[in-house]
Amino acid sequence: MATADKSSAIPEKRFQGVGVSPGIVRATVVVQNHEDEEVPDYAVRPEEIPGEIARFESALVATRTQILEMQQRIAESVGSGNAGIFDAHLLVVEDRTVIDEVLRLLEKEQKNIESVFHQVASRYIATLEALDDPYLKERALDIHDVSRRVLRNLSGKSPRTITLSSEPHILVARNLTPSDTAVMNCDLVLGFATDVGSKTSHTAIMANSLNIPAVVGLHTATQDLETGDPVLLDGYNGMLIVHPSEQTLYEYGQIESRRGRVEQELETLRDTRSATRDGSHIILSANIELPGDLESVQSSGAEGIGLYRTEFFFLNRPDAPSEDEQFENYRTIAEACKPHGVIIRTLDVGGDKLSSNLGTATEENPFLGWRAIRFCLERMDIFKPQLRAILRASACGNVRIMFPMISGIEEWRAAVRVLEECREELRAEGRSFDPAMEVGAMIEIPSAAIASDSLAREASFFSIGTNDLIQYTIAVDRMNDRITNLYQPTHPAIVRLIRMVVDSARRHGRWVGVCGEMAGDVLYTPLLLGLGVDELSAGAALVPRVKRAVQALDMFACRTLAEEVCGIETHAEIAARCETMARAHYPELLA
Ligand code: PEP
Ligand code: MG
Repeated sequence: MATADKSSAIPEKRFQGVGVSPGIVRATVVVQNHEDEEVPDYAVRPEEIPGEIARFESALVATRTQILEMQQRIAESVGSGNAGIFDAHLLVVEDRTVIDEVLRLLEKEQKNIESVFHQVASRYIATLEALDDPYLKERALDIHDVSRRVLRNLSGKSPRTITLSSEPHILVARNLTPSDTAVMNCDLVLGFATDVGSKTSHTAIMANSLNIPAVVGLHTATQDLETGDPVLLDGYNGMLIVHPSEQTLYEYGQIESRRGRVEQELETLRDTRSATRDGSHIILSANIELPGDLESVQSSGAEGIGLYRTEFFFLNRPDAPSEDEQFENYRTIAEACKPHGVIIRTLDVGGDKLSSNLGTATEENPFLGWRAIRFCLERMDIFKPQLRAILRASACGNVRIMFPMISGIEEWRAAVRVLEECREELRAEGRSFDPAMEVGAMIEIPSAAIASDSLAREASFFSIGTNDLIQYTIAVDRMNDRITNLYQPTHPAIVRLIRMVVDSARRHGRWVGVCGEMAGDVLYTPLLLGLGVDELSAGAALVPRVKRAVQALDMFACRTLAEEVCGIETHAEIAARCETMARAHYPELLA
């Protein structure tokens, strides 16, 4: 924690990034950088060799204990599936071939054990990395991680990892993958900041679902900060302040108490209806990434789950979850959501949600590549167990299914055909499912929006994934912080596409939701309501804010706004109109 004395002695420095998960937090930082440390290299005498072997053995034992502890902690906090990643790490420390090779080289070269171990591990890593097999490449990473840990234990240093810093801290890293965030110990990581990333990167989405303040896109934070620096992290405004001055701390104290009052008021909305002042009900549901997010869904007052991103269930494990494991998970979620429902999205690997154990990690351009429904339609071994598990869960609650990255009617029909095959199989096996389960299409590729008229004839509903729809329409990589200024939710093309999708749905009596990050940003609530969206699904932490916005708005005025902006040519002007309306109705949410 920054002390007043220390912070006044060293000048404060501010770093502006992108705030992706709200909240203000103060703590010291732990800078996570993966550079390899220098490995000592010196000759040892023959009589010193038994001592080197003993050091090696105790480093292996210490490493094994640390991995087991970490596995235990992660299993307790986010479930045993996520802890499975460390099985591979344990195999490395227990691998007899590696250990014997180290001992042989020690005898032969008569060098210190660090140097010998490093040589052997590096050789293994280089061999595995050179292979054209994503699974084995991943094993190279495991060996790299474990060997770094063994070397630190040999040097007597404490392990440096995301989860093993024993004091509460703010984590600063170059990047955090969804797998990193999935295994983060949230009791200790009070907030995080990364050099790369943008508002709709999955790192950001995970931060939101973990409900910890986060700022991404800080470019050089890992170089400019040092572990132990006191910082203030402002997830609302995307600011990281190192050695905050007393004046800054005072100002933030004021902001925090104002925010605290707003948060308290928002809590009182939990059981109120999500309807506009003139009585239009807007379904407000929550997005979840991990089964552990259920609790926050319930406390947010959301009407069920509008997007369950099932891919996080598949990450950090050597193989895909079985049909039964998935069924148990979906059933638990469906039962917990009652009387509301859950929309389960089928696996969307690829893009920044790479899952190398599923063989998707080797593409040059993964966002345009073999991802989501394209992947599933070719991997029946993965797709069918998931569909069967979802169908079976539909017998236990209000379950809907939706397919990600549908580009047009043929892909849609192909997915529906597989679903029908699964229904037939289950019928033949005498297993129950809801025959009337709604099946929806995500609209996140411009071609699907433009062809939404034919999709609307067959799909029960649409859920607009604005994160990808914006990325693909404007050709702006959603992960690239260099071009975030071009990532414009109010681009006229986006407004027109949303309107087109809603119009198609209306013509065929379907309903439309929005489940991208735009749904959780109260700046856009008037526009989305005015365009005729029926459901908004956002991170659970954002649901109360959106509810407050909905309750403050008037549907008639929102429709007028939407009509007006459809005739405007620039994103800046449309954004300004939305902001004016938002400020007029709920200024406290934007302050
Ligand atoms: C989207 O693209 O808006 C969406 C909800 O899916 P994801 O963010 O998981 O790609
Ligand atoms: Mg998407």
